[in-house]
Amino acid sequence: SLPTIFVITPTYARLVQKAELTRLSQTFLHVPQLHWIVVEDSPHKTPLVTDFLMKSGLTYTHLHVPTAKDRKLQEDDPSWLKPRGVEQRNEGLRWLREDRRPQPGEGRQRGVVYFADDDNTYSLQIFEEVVRFHTGWRPSRPFPMDMAGFAVSLKLVLANPDACFDGEAPMGFLESSFLKGLVTMDELEPKADNCSKVLVWHTRTEKPKMKREEALQAQGLGSDPTVEV
Ligand code: UDP
Ligand code: MN
Repeated sequence: SLPTIFVITPTYARLVQKAELTRLSQTFLHVPQLHWIVVEDSPHKTPLVTDFLMKSGLTYTHLHVPTAKDRKLQEDDPSWLKPRGVEQRNEGLRWLREDRRPQPGEGRQRGVVYFADDDNTYSLQIFEEVVRFHTGWRPSRPFPMDMAGFAVSLKLVLANPDACFDGEAPMGFLESSFLKGLVTMDELEPKADNCSKVLVWHTRTEKPKMKREEALQAQGLGSDPTVEV
């Protein structure tokens, strides 16, 4: 049988959240044996995500953990200031290690762990691969690659229970902080035709302009607030 692909996705409430989750889930629906681990950056599970997942048709686990206040990127901060999704990815790992820990008499765990941010765009082909990135940016990092550019076996995650993402890692070193607890560079297996194909795009969704809507709302002429976006 195929190994299960565990996809860990941090997500947070904003106007484009449902659009992002919709795009992602409709990609994942095409992937056999995918288990989606959705981790909300929130003190509780929100109704929007709860309902969304229920109707998604996917096999999923719904988790939540709020980012500590001092770790959270503020509205006016530049995006590079603090890494995002760290506690959420670690929470996904924690769940995996708890839920998938080897049971006595059970064979080895067949599975792959992949980190998929909710705003990126994923080719279906990536789920037949484990992709590594070539990078021109800070190539001297221990693992000079993007979050979306690698996957690791579940076995490795379970065998190294302390490996996690370090939110204090300097910019660009988040991936390295996790991977150095699991593998060395020469143990990596280049995929996607020896890294000659691009199968994931670091897309970003534009923030909707709400000025006009807010002005209308102030006059009592805004959109129906009970309609979920
Ligand atoms: N994220 C989060 N809480 C936040 C900001 C982002 O959980 O306050 C999630 C977001 O949904 C995404 C991941 O963390 O899945 C990476 O965030 P983002 O795409 O903003 O980072 P970038 O791609 O710009 O590094
Ligand atoms: Mn992003």
